[in-house]
Amino acid sequence: MESQETSSATRHIALVAHDNRKSDLLDWVEYNRDLLRTHKLYATGTTGRLLEEKLGLTVNKLQSGPLGGDQQIGALITSGTIDAMIFFWDPLQPQPHDPDVKALLRIAVVWNIPVACNRTSADFIVSSPLMNAPHANNRPDYDSHTNRLEAAIDEA
Ligand code: PGA
Repeated sequence: MESQETSSATRHIALVAHDNRKSDLLDWVEYNRDLLRTHKLYATGTTGRLLEEKLGLTVNKLQSGPLGGDQQIGALITSGTIDAMIFFWDPLQPQPHDPDVKALLRIAVVWNIPVACNRTSADFIVSSPLMNAPHANNRPDYDSHTNRLEAAIDEA
């Protein structure tokens, strides 16, 4: 992955689009290109390649979604690297990796990151004043879950 200048207001944003929604995502990214350039971008393989080739953006490209890219994005959300996701998934066509899609959307909720699945939501996210606020730590504290068996194990 390439390194880029980052500041406290730099967000690490994942961009993913299913095939029938790639042109929508490209269009949205082109419209917001200057703003998105100031953040660090990640994408599944094909989406990322299109963003680089068609829009000249620097993107940290992962595997193609159906080949594990969605799971890689999920892992980056879990580790706290990615803090927002624009995911234009296709509501009209089943995907070979539907379980991965569901898992990715779930893990984004688990770690409380903003997620946009359509253009209007994406506009709301990138135009929010919170985009440029210093990083707030909104990661949930799951200690009670992690330690939920401590007492039972101690008693055993
Ligand atoms: P792609 O993957 O960018 O490699 O097409 C997107 C997806 O289907 O998750």
